[in-house]
Amino acid sequence: MKQVYLDNAATTSLRPEVIAEMIKVLSEEYGNPSSTYSVGRRAKSLIEASRKSIAKQLKVSSSEIIFISCGTEANNWIIRSAVRDLKVQRIITSKMEHHAVLYAAKQMQREYDIDLEFVNILPNSEIDYAQLERLLADEIPTLVSLMHVNNEVGTELDLKRVAELCQKHRALFHCDTVQSVGKTEMDLQELPIDFIVASAHKFHGPKGIGFAFIRKNNVLKPMIFGGEQEKGMRAGTEAVHQVVGMAKAFEISYENLEVERDHIRAIKNYCQTKLKEVFPEVSFNGNQTGFYNIVNVSLPLSEEKAAMMLFQLDMKGIAVSRGSACQSGSQKPSHVLSEFLSEAELKKPSLRVSFSHETTCEDIDILIEVLQGV
Ligand code: PLP
Repeated sequence: MKQVYLDNAATTSLRPEVIAEMIKVLSEEYGNPSSTYSVGRRAKSLIEASRKSIAKQLKVSSSEIIFISCGTEANNWIIRSAVRDLKVQRIITSKMEHHAVLYAAKQMQREYDIDLEFVNILPNSEIDYAQLERLLADEIPTLVSLMHVNNEVGTELDLKRVAELCQKHRALFHCDTVQSVGKTEMDLQELPIDFIVASAHKFHGPKGIGFAFIRKNNVLKPMIFGGEQEKGMRAGTEAVHQVVGMAKAFEISYENLEVERDHIRAIKNYCQTKLKEVFPEVSFNGNQTGFYNIVNVSLPLSEEKAAMMLFQLDMKGIAVSRGSACQSGSQKPSHVLSEFLSEAELKKPSLRVSFSHETTCEDIDILIEVLQGV
């Protein structure tokens, strides 16, 4: 049976070049990067070359890139540090954020009694930019934490607009870019964003590694204490193979960006057209210009059929997500869809289908055939 993998917003396959690079490091470069003899120094230089290559692509300084285990850790560190170290008194975020942001912000409200405000979500799934500006006009020391690309519906934030609003009102801006790093150009010299985060497994790199960009003027304190690794910000012996694998995946993503983006756009278009042909009453959730690798679709199926749908898809070797991957198995409606769909719309079964450069039209045909048979 052909495995049809259509859940690239949850995680992605490793590129063969990344695996090869990681195996090489695992077998040959096992030195501890903190050791001063040559095998240690070589490991250290691999880490620093990886940092340099990532920083160059983002147009930032290497010292502003900190390696960390995943997007969740990076989001938690930044949000906590903004409150604890940079003394923000308010966090403005949205209820459509990933739980790594939402729950971290709520925890800060409990621990530090800061204000937590949520920007409204409009019916098209975008944030209310005018309301954000009104909130910022108060000029309370604030962290704005808004995601670049929503992981469930693909709604894309106007980064430039939010970054400039934050700059104008002297608020710090943290952007959860886990779904967009490696998939779109990002020039942090141009964009006044204070913090971004990335996770390698979302761009065909290994799991268990990511990075945080911390703009120079923001001095954060460590989350955990120990050695001097990562300037003491993230103590613990570095996983050299993970770091090198991430940098390789990042590099290839940007080398191939235009070609792969065109391919994925064509696949998304094909998928939406086919779904409309087969189910004329289908509706796509999110805004019209959603990010190019995600389709979130509500299907005109009864509740019993909906219950069978994921089971049947899995039986046929199709990996696809209901709402957010982090919640699959839970029967609660998605916290993202609940923000902008009506009660009636929420009752319809929804699927998130997310593509990569490896997705083919045949994969989509297999999906549609199974859905037709439900
Ligand atoms: N933020 C967003 C938008 C995500 O989609 C995810 C993962 O699904 C995360 C954060 C968490 O990233 P990680 O799996 O690296 O902890």
